[in-house]
Amino acid sequence: MPPRPIREGLFTSTPQPELIVGRCADCHQPHFPASDFCPYCGADEVGRDTMGATGTLYLHTIVNTAPPGYCGPVPYGFGLVDLPGGLRVVSRLEAPDLALLQKGMAMRLSVAALFEDADANPVSSWCYVPETAEDS
Ligand SMILES: [Zn+2]
Repeated sequence: MPPRPIREGLFTSTPQPELIVGRCADCHQPHFPASDFCPYCGADEVGRDTMGATGTLYLHTIVNTAPPGYCGPVPYGFGLVDLPGGLRVVSRLEAPDLALLQKGMAMRLSVAALFEDADANPVSSWCYVPETAEDS
């Protein structure tokens, strides 16, 4: 059984994963997760767009203890990724060696199973991984 997304409307999986963002019809600013109103100007005419296949790591930390409600593996990286198009998103980060994460690294969006639900079905979520990690 293919993984189900942790929540509908957050990301696409194929052909290349992208985040589903809201884009304001008035001020044209993107926001993530998409909401029904613009968090910048308050307009309620917000469309959907996709972006974020790649980005640049802005800052990060390593989480060693699972926060309440988190069912995935620890440790994991957590931080902010700057996307082309002017959006900075909060994201889980994965890397073969989390200690090698560095500000300014080129990152790529990845969608993969994160945990299994109560019925043992895989549940997928997004994360950013260093571009170099996928070449090895
Ligand atoms: Zn707006």
